[in-house]
Amino acid sequence: MSELSLNDAVVTTRLDSVVNWARKNSLWPMPFGTACCAIEFMSVMASKYDMSRFGAEAMRFSPRQSDMMLVLGTVTNKMAPILRTIYAQMAEPKWVISVGVCASSGGMYRTYATLQGIDRVIPVDVYVPGCPPRPESMIYGVIKLQEKIEKESLSMRKDHVRRFYESLDRQEKIQMNEGLTGQQTIQNMLRQAAHDKVATIF
Ligand code: SF4
Repeated sequence: MSELSLNDAVVTTRLDSVVNWARKNSLWPMPFGTACCAIEFMSVMASKYDMSRFGAEAMRFSPRQSDMMLVLGTVTNKMAPILRTIYAQMAEPKWVISVGVCASSGGMYRTYATLQGIDRVIPVDVYVPGCPPRPESMIYGVIKLQEKIEKESLSMRKDHVRRFYESLDRQEKIQMNEGLTGQQTIQNMLRQAAHDKVATIF
């Protein structure tokens, strides 16, 4: 019987590596654009900066068909429950980039109406500083996210996902039992989090 020679026909790798390689090079962005940062993002997707060079040009406005949410602009408290719902509707695995100071910290809007950072209500993977950030900064943010995805293990996300969906259940229960609006419920949860000396509600 002749000896089977595999030569270069077989490559061995880890499952994590090959899955992450595919994930990081086929990100589907979903813009949650609320203000001027969203205008800056348009140029990132256009021909000059061309996000398709990084495999992330298939922009979708449906949470069901995207895995990279970009929050671009000021988010008010009223919008917080909507942001959480849209994030929840995205299928796992999913990642979030907070673009600009408004999304990341409320920016110059230190007011009762503005959410002081989206990371208080949804998990954020990468923050892009600036007001507005240059298109190069947004691209750098995507590259940083790709580096993060490359290092993730498939089991690592489980805790992260569990905590978010538990907080969503808690939110729904409070809302139903106390007859509050989504905004009031989030406000109550944020107050409770501040009382418990934690930064987030999930
Ligand atoms: S960070 Fe600056 S550019 Fe971006 S939404 Fe806020 S005010 Fe507008």
